[in-house]
This record gives sequence, structure tokens and C-alpha cells, in this order.
Amino acid sequence: MDQKRCAVASKESLKRIFTVPEAPDSTLSKIELEISSNLAGFLNENIAAIEKPLHEIEKDFQSAVIPEDPTFVSAYAQDIMEQLVAHSVHTAAPSFIGHMTSALPHFLLPLSKLMVGLNQNLVKIETSKAFTPLERQVLGMMHHLAYGQEDSFYSKWMHSAKTSLGAFCSGGTVANITALWIARNRLLKPDGDFRGIGAQGLIAGMLHYGYKGLAVLISERGHYSLGKSVDLLGIGRDNLIGIKTCENNKVDVGAMREKARELESQGIKVMAIIGVAGTTETGNIDPLDEMADLAQDINCHFHVDAAWGGATLLSNTHRPLLKGIERADSITIDAHKQMYVPMGAGLVLFKDPAATDAIEHHAEYILRKGSKDLGSHTLEGSRPGMAMLVHACLRVIGRKGYEMLIDRSIKKAHYFADLIKADEDFELISEPELCLLTYRYVPKQIKQAIADADAATRLDIFASLNRFTASMQKRQRESGRSFVSRTRLTPSKYDNQPTVVFRVVLANPLTSGAILKEILAEQKELAATDPVFKKYLRKYM
Ligand SMILES: *Cc1c(COP(=O)(O)O)cnc(C)c1O
Repeated sequence: MDQKRCAVASKESLKRIFTVPEAPDSTLSKIELEISSNLAGFLNENIAAIEKPLHEIEKDFQSAVIPEDPTFVSAYAQDIMEQLVAHSVHTAAPSFIGHMTSALPHFLLPLSKLMVGLNQNLVKIETSKAFTPLERQVLGMMHHLAYGQEDSFYSKWMHSAKTSLGAFCSGGTVANITALWIARNRLLKPDGDFRGIGAQGLIAGMLHYGYKGLAVLISERGHYSLGKSVDLLGIGRDNLIGIKTCENNKVDVGAMREKARELESQGIKVMAIIGVAGTTETGNIDPLDEMADLAQDINCHFHVDAAWGGATLLSNTHRPLLKGIERADSITIDAHKQMYVPMGAGLVLFKDPAATDAIEHHAEYILRKGSKDLGSHTLEGSRPGMAMLVHACLRVIGRKGYEMLIDRSIKKAHYFADLIKADEDFELISEPELCLLTYRYVPKQIKQAIADADAATRLDIFASLNRFTASMQKRQRESGRSFVSRTRLTPSKYDNQPTVVFRVVLANPLTSGAILKEILAEQKELAATDPVFKKYLRKYM
């Protein structure tokens, strides 16, 4: 940074940054005006299309020393435009269909600014006032969406000081941790002399109840956040047991039941089973009703991880896909995925309003007993008023608006699946159930070669296709025109071998059919010039 751009630390300048807004013609004010009037245009213009390698970007973030001298806001704004904004990811672009995040409704920008300006802290009423009832209402609305209890239930519990119908948090990870925390504490609850795991810890709890271990069962397609959860809760990652899925990527409940029986015969208590409602990789929904039966039979907590797919409940057309979710003890939903809220909005819902008793925490200076402070039932402490943005979307978009968005996303996914199936050089790997599908590029001559090959050659072609798919995905991302993500599945078509596939999420309302056609056309061009293809696959043509 050159010398003349440096400001001087002084009482006056510090007072100024707290009290005086930037001048209308300053760099930051211009940025603010642009994002307020045309966010899409701003992002299109200012995010560089061609990707800069990360090690190049790192050069702008080298110094570990906090700058001694202040910087003028205008100089700083200029720097971040060049160093940060330009090299951000254009998650809102309609041709970027690999993420679970999408374009945001415009009204959220000024509302976010209002939320930041108010700077409420939802940990306690004293620092949030009306934000606390608002958050409780949002939790009530989402609870009603999932569990559909009577009005009297909500008038009794929604604003009750003793309970909460759920917990707002930063995302699905914390929501899943919270759900399993409650499951664990309810299992190892106070009993006679034993004052509960919360007071006496895991070892005392296990000794008291005579369990040799605890286990959590989930589909092999379960999200990695559950691994973190069982680690953190002292259950151990080895005891989060992935159960195989059927051909449609839904968990095999028979196999789960079998595993549960085996564990219980060894003295290991199944603490919870988890249904996934919209797997991160393929978007499929586990048979929730059957899982609820299993949980009832083995008397364990039933959690549903609907972080991504939970918003489907807003569509009357597609909500039957999640049938059985209303029998779950707890449900995770991310508002920052298919509810079009900015990052940092997750929630967990509890069927039983008394569920949070198991994790209740009080402190004298804050979270007094009998207060309506939300912080006494949440893992996180200080939290922003993100519930306001969910509230805004629920009001402004409305259930019917969400229904249209969700129905259109799913329709678009079917349209894209049809495009893929109609082209003999592509191959659909997983059919969309929600708006997520996987596919890959396999020219028809290679398909033929696979059909004709002996076992060893098949494996060689599979391995080469994996490298080729990864190479294509990377080159497409680097060219900056469009983006699909990739993951690894084990489809039976590929002898259950690890298979690298493109993964797309069609939740962006601005993604058109024409864009989807262009993405396939671009992939054909990329394939034709792909070095990995030339080296390893051409010989099979
Ligand atoms: C995204 C996701 C999570 C984790 O949510 P974060 O908001 O990233 O913490 C958990 N489970 C599923 C199924 C998800 O899709």
C-alpha cells in the first residue's frame, strides 16, 4: 500500500467512521448504489470470468501483521473490489448449477442491511426484544409446516418460556449436532441417583445404564456433518454406521433393522436413526415412514436430516415425497439452501416441545430461569437476527410462491434429465427425485467398448472415465462460463465401482432451458479437446 493512501489514527477520524456515512460519490457508496439497484449486473461485471489460481490470489493476503495505520475507506473498497470481489464465486449465476446456494431475492439486500444495522443478539431478550418473538414465530411456522399440530398447540407452546419448538442456528451442521445432543441427553437422562449425562458425563451415563456403546445409524449417503456430530458428542465416528442404499440411493431399511438387531445383541444401544430427506449427492429421500416404524420398534430417537430437501414441504405437489417426516423426533432444515435465504440460516425442529429440557442451560446474569431467552435452548451463544430474513421470505414469497419455485425446480431437473437421456453421448446416473441429478459424458463408442470389454478392460475404462470426468469438470469451472460440481457414486451400471459424476442442483429460478442446453453443448466442446480423454480413452473408440 503506498504512503499517500494511508490515513492517520486520530480521535476525530475514529469518531467520523462511527458517525458519518460515506460521501455519495465515494467508492463504497457507488458500490452500494450498484448492488441495490442491480445486484445481478454488479456481480456479472465485477466477478472475473476467468479463474485466477488460488496461489496467485494468496499473494494479496500475505501479511500476518495487523496494519499499524488506518486505511481510507475508499482505498479499502478499491482493494477489495480487485482482490476479493473479482475472485469470488458467482454463486448467483444461472449457469452455475453445481451449488446448493443460488440467486437471492433482491429485497433481502436492504433487509440484511437493516438486520446488521439493528445488530440484535438473539441469545437473550434484553438484546433482541421483538426479534425473539419473531424467531419463535418462524420456528412455530416451520414446526407447523412439518408437524401440522392444532392451533391450540402453537398458542400454548410457541411463546412459552419453558420450551422452544426448535432452535435457529448457523446451518445444518449445528442443527444436526443439536438434534443428536438432545437424543443423547434424553437417552442418558437422570434416573435415581444418576443426575444425567449433562451433569455427570458420558462415562457415568454408560455405567449407570449398562450400555457397552452407543450407535447412530444412517444411510451411506448421509452428510459428513453427522460424523462431526458423533465425534463431538463422544459417541465416536466408528459408531456412526452407514447403511447401504438400494439402487435408488434410498437407505435399505431392512439392512438398517438387521444392523440395529446385531448391535443391540452386543449390548450397544442404538441412540438414533437418521433419515436423509434429500441426500447431498443425489437428492433422494429415504423411506421415512418405514424408518419411523423402525425407530418405534427399537425405541430410539428418529432424526430427519432435511437440510437440503426440507423446503419441499412447502409444495403441496411434492410434499408427499417426505411422508413420515411428521413422525420424526427432530428435523433439520437449512433456510439458506432451497428457501433462498442468505448463508447462515439453519434450524432444527422438535416434535415434542419439552425436548429442549434435555439441554436447557441457565446462567444468572443472562438466561435466567423463566425468561423467554432463546439462548437457554441453543448450542450457539450470540446469534444474529437471521430469522428476520426467513420471516421476510415466508411473508413475501408465501407458501404458494415457494410451491411454484419448488415445482419449477423439479420440473427443470426432469427437463435436464430428458436432455441428457436424449443425447447418446451423455449418461444419466441418478434420476431426479427433487431438483438434483447426476450424469456424466460417455461417448457412445465408449459405451460400446464397455459392453464388449473383458473384466480387466472394463475396470481400466472405468478408471479412465473417472479421470476424464474430473478433468472436464475442472476445465469447465476454470473457463468461467458455467459450473457443475462433481461427486463419486457407486452405481450398479458400473459394477458398484467408485464412479465420478457431474452433479447439478437446479434451484436457481433464473436458470433457463436454453442455459441447460448451452451447458451440455459446452461440455461436448470440452470433451473434444480434453487431454485426459486423448491419452486414456481415445484408444477405445
Ligand atoms: C448442507 C447439508 C448439511 C449441512 O448444512 P450446513 O448448512 O452446510 O452446515 C447437512 N445435511 C445435509 C443433507 C445437507 O445437504
